[in-house]
Amino acid sequence: MPMTSDAPPTAVAALDIGGTKMAACIATASGPLLRVVQPTLTSGTPDTIARQGLRLIDECCQQLQIDPAVLKSVGVSSCGPFEVRDGATGIIPPNLCGGLTNRDDLPNDWTFLPLESVLRERFSSVRSVRIANDCVAALHGERAFGIAPANAIYVTWSTGIGFGLCVDGHILHGKAGNAGHAGHMLLSETSQALCGCGNRGDLEGMVGGRNFGKHLGKSLELIFSDAQRGDVSALDAVHDAARWFGRALYNLTTILDTEAIFIGGSVWRHNETLLAPLVQREIGDRFPALTRGVTVQSTTLGELVTDMGAFALVMPAGWITDWRAHRPWETLRSVPLT
Ligand SMILES: [Zn+2]
Repeated sequence: MPMTSDAPPTAVAALDIGGTKMAACIATASGPLLRVVQPTLTSGTPDTIARQGLRLIDECCQQLQIDPAVLKSVGVSSCGPFEVRDGATGIIPPNLCGGLTNRDDLPNDWTFLPLESVLRERFSSVRSVRIANDCVAALHGERAFGIAPANAIYVTWSTGIGFGLCVDGHILHGKAGNAGHAGHMLLSETSQALCGCGNRGDLEGMVGGRNFGKHLGKSLELIFSDAQRGDVSALDAVHDAARWFGRALYNLTTILDTEAIFIGGSVWRHNETLLAPLVQREIGDRFPALTRGVTVQSTTLGELVTDMGAFALVMPAGWITDWRAHRPWETLRSVPLT
């Protein structure tokens, strides 16, 4: 006779905090069960972001009729950069903190958002809470569930631009978890494009989704749709953006001796057909000794790459083989919340 148990199955949560949207997802050994998504809040007290994350986890649990008390761990992929204050990690994302520079479109004066302290207060010490930069987490996801080799870059081209870097099988974290914030590397001496970090002429200031097009007085969506129709000035803007983005990837490839580059993020996802050959050219046309054979492709996990990365941070290692075999995330249901 088979043994039965009334104990609830082990469940883990993934929380993905982005500059535009936030998602929470719950998984058991069989795979992710449900994902709820909501626009990231930008007003209120500085703990608004962390508390929104808790509410989304609760909402996901409620829809699944799972008691949040049974969650064994919470993996968080979050936009950064991070700063540790009073022993707990918080975030200072330029695209959410209106107390930094370039604040015209942000209705707050935030300069630091507590995260770990709020999550740990709710999820007591017996359960693990692990936070990683979203692109670092994404690379953990690509390594666990995709095809990223030991020397790989993950890059998101979204509201902001960020990177995850893997060298010799080691995903880089850095002194505060901020390795890969190359969206803030200075590229242009002449551009006046202002990034939320205060730089003028850094990669994110020039081509990040929040900033791209400001100098033309057009939205990003309009520029890309005009470019698709052959509008010359829009095409020039897209070519410029792809050139800066591709050069950044070339530079990182030369530094890290990279084998494969995986790209995600909404700007890339919606405009891949136009951008991919332009970006590929910036890398493949340069110094063959360093770039020969380097592959550039979209993330194999699509829009879920950061969610899967958050799971990869905390899920039991024994689940990974089964998930890789059955790819349960491909049928995951996403529920948008207003
Ligand atoms: Zn910047």
